[in-house]
Amino acid sequence: MIDAHAHLDFEAFDADREAMWARALEAGVEAAVIPGVAPAQWARGAEVARALDGAWCVGAHPEWLAELGLSPDALRERLIAEGEGAVAVGELGLDRRVEGAVGREAQEAYLEAQLDAAEALGLPLVLHVVGRHGRLLELLAPRAPLRGMVHAFTGAPEVAARYLELGLHLGVGGALTRPNAKKLRAAAPTIPLGRLLVETDAPDQAPEGREGRNEPAWLVDVVEALAALRGESVEKVAEATGENARTLFGLAS
Ligand SMILES: [Zn+2]
Repeated sequence: MIDAHAHLDFEAFDADREAMWARALEAGVEAAVIPGVAPAQWARGAEVARALDGAWCVGAHPEWLAELGLSPDALRERLIAEGEGAVAVGELGLDRRVEGAVGREAQEAYLEAQLDAAEALGLPLVLHVVGRHGRLLELLAPRAPLRGMVHAFTGAPEVAARYLELGLHLGVGGALTRPNAKKLRAAAPTIPLGRLLVETDAPDQAPEGREGRNEPAWLVDVVEALAALRGESVEKVAEATGENARTLFGLAS
């Protein structure tokens, strides 16, 4: 299994990072992709990736844009200057919840700057979207075909289909384990196995029935839920999603 999205560089893991990763290995997780959230944190992501079996990304998450202190142009230049060795650009995207702090137009300008940087670097995308699927799809469409993932996807089957048409993979996480995630549970069996990734988004989004901080060892809950919904074996889903992550992010096998 590969955890395609885990914030292992976050403070939440400072006290027990090695023990946490030992539990992940024990549970069958072979590697994790650490997303970028802000330039000040990219080097930390790279350092943690080297210490664990990880890969790292450069990006500016919508929630961190208010404190970014860089123009979209400056962000693009910084991504291009510091992106060597990263496996993706992201997480980048649109988030309705932070529009009070960073308006829609500003979020879109930072999105476009990061899409440009990814093109310049030749890297796939790690997209974050909350409540703005329609607009994100509109902005992405002229750049298709695209390489990358929509992380923590929770949308309906028809929304999934539109991302797939653009060439993107879909990452599913803890939400899939919740009985009330009806749209996602309807979408998951419709996504071709070759375009699915599994992720924890640790330390957030703990699976149903797990308490507190999420961690990669619990990725198995997501794989089991996905396998059950699709009527496929856990082994098949684990292997295919792992292979998808290796190919998309260029990870060593
Ligand atoms: Zn994330």
